[in-house]
Amino acid sequence: MKKIAILGSTGSIGTQTLEIVREQKDIVVTALAAGRNTTLLEAQIREFSPKIAALWEEEAAASLRESVKDLPVQIVSGMEGLLEIATMPDTEILVTAIVGMLGIRPTIAAIEAGKTIALANKETLVTAGHIIMPLAKQNHVPILPVDSEHSAIFQSLHGERENKIQKILLTASGGPFRGKKEAELAQMQVEDALKHPNWSMGKKITIDSATMVNKGLEVMEAKWLFDVELDQIQVVVHPQSIVHSMVEYEDGAVIAQLGTPDMRLPIQYALYYPKRRNLSGKRLDFYQLSNLTFEKPDLETFWGLGLAFEAMKRGGNIPTAYNAANEKAVALFLEKKISFLEIPKIIHTCMEQCEFVAHPNVTEILETEAEAYALIESRW
Ligand code: NDP
Repeated sequence: MKKIAILGSTGSIGTQTLEIVREQKDIVVTALAAGRNTTLLEAQIREFSPKIAALWEEEAAASLRESVKDLPVQIVSGMEGLLEIATMPDTEILVTAIVGMLGIRPTIAAIEAGKTIALANKETLVTAGHIIMPLAKQNHVPILPVDSEHSAIFQSLHGERENKIQKILLTASGGPFRGKKEAELAQMQVEDALKHPNWSMGKKITIDSATMVNKGLEVMEAKWLFDVELDQIQVVVHPQSIVHSMVEYEDGAVIAQLGTPDMRLPIQYALYYPKRRNLSGKRLDFYQLSNLTFEKPDLETFWGLGLAFEAMKRGGNIPTAYNAANEKAVALFLEKKISFLEIPKIIHTCMEQCEFVAHPNVTEILETEAEAYALIESRW
């Protein structure tokens, strides 16, 4: 039996992880954590019987404690609660499916406690990759990517560890606005940006797909995960989302992972790595796949992607400024307080104006986040 804890169990990745638990029947859920979705968390507690469950606010946790007092579950709250879940002795794998930089501290604590990390939370590596990757190495802890592109790269590297990577070809669907130019993007509303052509995901990441900032975050994540130079990562727009990413080796061979767009596959691969298991769902029909296309990203229109390369090149806390500014800008866009085109402008402003720190520790990373938030609040 595998023993897993899930941070962000009520979200898109969290609920799909639980679908796998339901289907495979040999995974024990030791702990669950959510932000505020008490109703769904309670239903999950009743179905999966974790030992510990967390909600962010203590008030909500207290009310949940009352609702589940018939069950042997401990209800915790706040960062303390997340840290308790991340380090509980029973857990083997921590699925980090929480959204935002909140994921950094529990991930560090879990690595120090020797837990395998099934990493969905992009923000962790984007902002703290320089801390997380050496720490994982030092503690002999595997970081198994859940993101479909990184899982595809990881799968394409299987058995090839000794061979030199020439290039990582990171595929991108291009999002709902692929092919559009700035004048058209200016008219786009929240509802338009939330219509992803291929993937069903949480709201924040769906907007990130529309701006292509999601791909920017993935470039930074890939650099940390696979220890390559930035100029070895090439973003390739592939609207059908069938080729989930590729690795080119020095002999010119390109190894790719293909599949239908279904996040359960990379989640399951991380949970059972290196084994594969049966997974219900559609299979690719190669007689129908007559039109797989690939193109260059439009960096002029979707300049948020180019800013990610710049942030990573400048290093230090600039990726944090990029990420924090984007988080806040997306929240403002979802609240209809700013336009779609303002998102990259806000990111650029924060990258230029946040005070530079060359080797930020976790406190300094969180200070940069606060600095970016304050800057945005003072202007927008
Ligand atoms: P969702 O918005 O769907 O879910 C986020 C989860 O985090 C929810 O369970 C939410 O709880 C929880 N959460 C939010 N705030 C807190 C908090 N303060 N304390 C505890 N839990 C909290 O996001 P996704 O599942 O889409 O994404 C999760 C992460 O995975 C992100 O970093 C994203 O970039 C990454 N990712 C997602 C992919 C996808 O296909 N969705 C693909 C690859 C990576 P509540 O429901 O109560 O608010």
